[in-house]
Amino acid sequence: MNFDILINASYLIASVLFIMGLKLLSSPKTARKGNFISALGMFIAVVVTLLSKEIIDYKLILAGLVVGSFIGVYSAKKVAMTSMPEMVALLNGFGGLSSLLVGWSVYVADPSISILSAITIFLSVLIGGVTFTGSMVAWAKLSEKISGRPLLFSGQKFFNFTLLSAMVILGILFSMNPTVSYSSLIGVIAGSLLLGILLVIPIGGADMPVVISLLNSYSGIAACAAGFVIANNILIVSGALVGASGIILTSIMCKAMNRSLTNVLFSGFGSKASGKQQEILGEVKSLTSQDAYHVLEAAKSVLIVPGYGLAVAQAQHIVKEFSELLEKNGTEVKYAIHSVAGRMPGHMNVLLAEAGVSYDLLAETDDVNPIMNTVDVCLVIGANDVVNPAARDDDTSAIYGMPIIEADKAKNVFILKRSMGSGFAGIANPLFFKENSSMIFGDAKKTLQELVAEFKS
Ligand code: NDP
Repeated sequence: MNFDILINASYLIASVLFIMGLKLLSSPKTARKGNFISALGMFIAVVVTLLSKEIIDYKLILAGLVVGSFIGVYSAKKVAMTSMPEMVALLNGFGGLSSLLVGWSVYVADPSISILSAITIFLSVLIGGVTFTGSMVAWAKLSEKISGRPLLFSGQKFFNFTLLSAMVILGILFSMNPTVSYSSLIGVIAGSLLLGILLVIPIGGADMPVVISLLNSYSGIAACAAGFVIANNILIVSGALVGASGIILTSIMCKAMNRSLTNVLFSGFGSKASGKQQEILGEVKSLTSQDAYHVLEAAKSVLIVPGYGLAVAQAQHIVKEFSELLEKNGTEVKYAIHSVAGRMPGHMNVLLAEAGVSYDLLAETDDVNPIMNTVDVCLVIGANDVVNPAARDDDTSAIYGMPIIEADKAKNVFILKRSMGSGFAGIANPLFFKENSSMIFGDAKKTLQELVAEFKS
């Protein structure tokens, strides 16, 4: 059989494995398997690529493999679950840098290239450079190496637009006559690195997960362009898959927050209280853990709604212990997971998985809302925006239209938080003032410890 056919057939198998892996990654139950299947696809792709090329010296490749594997395994083992977005930011950034280097080195190795090759080199360098420095800024903001505040200056959008236009002009000059236009390519490299920084600094730290998902998509597009540069089909396919899945995740996150991508990228959201709001009527009632215990002890069904405060309080282990005590007491317990609860995609899933909460107990917004009126106690733990009824009822609210978990429709709502303070969106929550709502003030971990102690006594 023709060797080329064999190679492309293996690439096809690898591509199918990537697609199957992506599908399985969409649920926490199958994510591990999805990761394995995708890794298998990548293994096939790498081995086949090495066999298909004339490798002059394997020593450097082996050294890279050993050092890279060591760093990868060490960092993946060391990273805290909650620092995953930072790690993803670094990985995206390095992906972008690789595409930049591939494009650059192919040109340096042989500058007498066609216009088409020059265009693909320009794209892989431009997108790769933006992805690299953009991801580094995102990483620095998330890990608090620099301030998470949006950094704005006057004329910022105009400056960015001018810089991008200048690079497109340099790209055209380079592509029209690549052999003698090395300086244009260097200009594109420098400009793309600067643009990546400038595009991410005006975005607030809390919006970084959305930005990282977008940069993930960019890193895929850059890899796809690099695939065209070196005429490698599997790199084109895998880059396109990453590019497409990244943009789909970005759009899912924006939709779940009811915000446009433009609003995320340019508004500096999260830095200040936003929007007007209808006046809130009602009275705030507060309960002690002892009072709450009596109601919980008699409840037939309890729905736990975790939010960002659960992560702040690190209350995932104690909430598991608490829910087991409820179950032992004959109460039906479920966790309602909102897709943007917390500060990163899957934040609550990750925390609860770390504590060993069974996936079977987790339900999504659309599953719990229709049965909310049958729930005896809805226990809101450190969640605020994701249960704010203003998103449903108040068309003047900044989060109007955002899908919420309708905790207010449960028979009783207990809200565990430290104060009447607002959440990420910076707006008041009418849920706290409802007839059926009671606040249990204090750190969520401490309150849950008290409830556990009550059940145990
Ligand atoms: P929120 O940010 O709306 O509210 C969290 C609440 O937790 C606060 O009101 C705070 O109240 C409380 N809290 C903080 N620390 C503690 C503690 N130790 N014990 C008890 N309570 C505590 O969180 P949600 O999860 O409801 O909503 C997430 C928000 O983040 C949404 O607006 C979403 O759009 C946004 N977002 C989400 C992203 C994601 O990928 N998930 C990415 C970017 C933004 P108090 O200070 O009174 O205790």
